Amino acid sequence: MSYHRKITVAYGDGIGPEIMTATLSILDAAGANLDYEVIEIGEKIYLKGISSGMEPHAFDSLRANKVFLKSPITTPQGGGFKSLNVTTRKSFGLFANVRPCKSYSPFVKTHFPKTDLVIIRENEEDLYAGIEHRQTQEVYQCLKVISQPGSEKIIRYAFEYAKKYGKKKVTCMTKDNIMKLADGLFHKTFDEIAKEYPNIQSEHKIIDIGTALIAERPEVFDVIVTLNLYGDIISDVAAQVTGSVGLGGSANVGEEVAMFEAIHGSAPDIAGKNIANPSGLLNGAILMLVHLGMPEVAEKISNAWMKTLEDGIHTADIYQEGLSSKKVGTMEFAQAVISRLGQQPSRLIPASFGKEGGKPMAIRLNAKPKSKKELLGIDVFLDWDQEDRDPNKLGAMLQQIQTPGLSLQLITNRGVKVFPEGLKETFCTDHWRCRFKSTNGGPIDHRQVIALLQEINHLGLDFIKTEHLYTFDGVKGYSLAQGE
Ligand code: NAD
Repeated sequence: MSYHRKITVAYGDGIGPEIMTATLSILDAAGANLDYEVIEIGEKIYLKGISSGMEPHAFDSLRANKVFLKSPITTPQGGGFKSLNVTTRKSFGLFANVRPCKSYSPFVKTHFPKTDLVIIRENEEDLYAGIEHRQTQEVYQCLKVISQPGSEKIIRYAFEYAKKYGKKKVTCMTKDNIMKLADGLFHKTFDEIAKEYPNIQSEHKIIDIGTALIAERPEVFDVIVTLNLYGDIISDVAAQVTGSVGLGGSANVGEEVAMFEAIHGSAPDIAGKNIANPSGLLNGAILMLVHLGMPEVAEKISNAWMKTLEDGIHTADIYQEGLSSKKVGTMEFAQAVISRLGQQPSRLIPASFGKEGGKPMAIRLNAKPKSKKELLGIDVFLDWDQEDRDPNKLGAMLQQIQTPGLSLQLITNRGVKVFPEGLKETFCTDHWRCRFKSTNGGPIDHRQVIALLQEINHLGLDFIKTEHLYTFDGVKGYSLAQGE
C-alpha cells in the first residue's frame, strides 16, 4: 500500500500557476506520492484587504500539514501590505533560510563553474525584528536584536547540515570588528559550537571581505552561516555569480513547519505565456522531498533535470545559441524532465542527498548558567536642539544634576564623544546620548535611575530613550563610546 503525505501548496501569482503545474507534474511522475491541499495567497488576498496576503484558514493548513510548497506572489504596489514570507517565517518560527547556490556550467552561463555552496541564513532576528523608532526631528533608529539561543540554533543547524550532507567546511560571516557585542555574540557562539564538530573545518570572515570573496572565488566556500541581513545580501550575490537566479530554490525551515520556494519573483512580464522556467520551484521542491524523507525521489528528479539541461532542452531564459538544442516552453520542459526520470547526467555531478532524508536534525541548545547582572549606570538619550547645539552648554546643564550616586560621564552624538573635550569639528544632530555612571563604581538601583530622569525632566529636557549599563559577571554589557 502506498503512503500519501499531504502538503500545502499555493499556486501564487504571475508565472506561479504555470511553474507550479509543471513542478507538480514532475513530482507525481517521479512517484513522490503527495496529496496537495491548495491555499490561495498573494495579490487577490491582499486586494481583499487581508494585509498578510494569506487567509486565516491557510495558517491552519500549514499548521496541520507542516510542509508548504509556495509559488512566488506579486506584492501589490503601495503601503500597508505585509511581506507574506516574513509573516510565515515569524508565525511558524522558520528560523533557518537554506539556499544552495550551484553552477551548472557550461549549460548555464557562469564565470565560476565550480561553485557549489549553501548559505544558511538566520531568519528571525537582527534588523528584521522590525523594531524601528523615529526619536527626534532628525534621527530614526532600527534596532538590531541578536540573541544567544537564536544564534546557537542557526549555527548548530549549519553544522548539522554540513554533517548530514557531507560538507567539509562551515564559514561564519559577521561584522564583529565593528559590532563587537551583537555580531561578537554570533562569532563567539560559532567558535564554541565549532569545537563540537572537529571533523568539519570552521573559519570566520568579516562580512565585507567575505562578500567580495563570494563574488571573486565562490568555489572556496562550502556552507556559509550568517546573520539575517548579511544572509539576505550574500544569497543574492551567490545566486548571481552561479548564473542561476532563475534556477535556485530555497527552504525556510523551523522546528515544526518548513516552506519551500523558488528564489525568483512572480515575473508578471512573462505570465501566462508558457515560457517561464520552472526549475527554481522544482529545485525548491527537491529540497522539500529531502526534508520529507524522500532523498531517492529527490535524486531521481534532480538527475533527470540535469540530464535535460545537458541535452540542451532549455527554456528561453537560459537558451544559448550553439549550445542549446531546443527552446521549449514551461510544460514541454517539464515533459522533457519526466521523460528522463531514471537517467543520470553524464557531465554534471549526479545528485546525492544522503540516505537519512527527512530525519530531523538534532538541534539541542546547551543550557547556559545565568551570570550575575549588575547595573552600573544609564545612557539617557535626549532630543535637544537649543543653544547652537553646543555640547558644552548641554554638559554644563547636566552637570548640575544632583542624583546621589550618579554623575555625568560623557555625552556623545552619533556615537562620537562631544563632551567633555569634544572636537569642535564634530557634526552634531539633535540626538544626544548622555552617559551617567555610578560615582563609586558599585551597583546602582532603579530608584536612582527614576530620580535622575525626574531631574532631567525638571531641567526641561526631552528624554526619548534610556539604555541601562549592565555588567554580566563583571564583563561590560555595553560598548564604549568612540573617544571614551
Ligand atoms: P522577478 O524575479 O519576478 O523577475 C525578474 C526578471 O526575471 C523578469 O524579467 C522575469 O521575467 C525574469 N524571471 C523571473 N523568474 C523567471 C523564470 N522562472 N523564468 C524565466 N524568467 C524569469 O522579480 P521582479 O520583477 O522584481 O518582481 C516581480 C514580483 O515578484 C514583485 O511583485 C515582487 O514583489 C515579487 N517577488 C516575489 C517573491 C516571492 O514570492 N518569494 C520573490 C521576489 C519577488
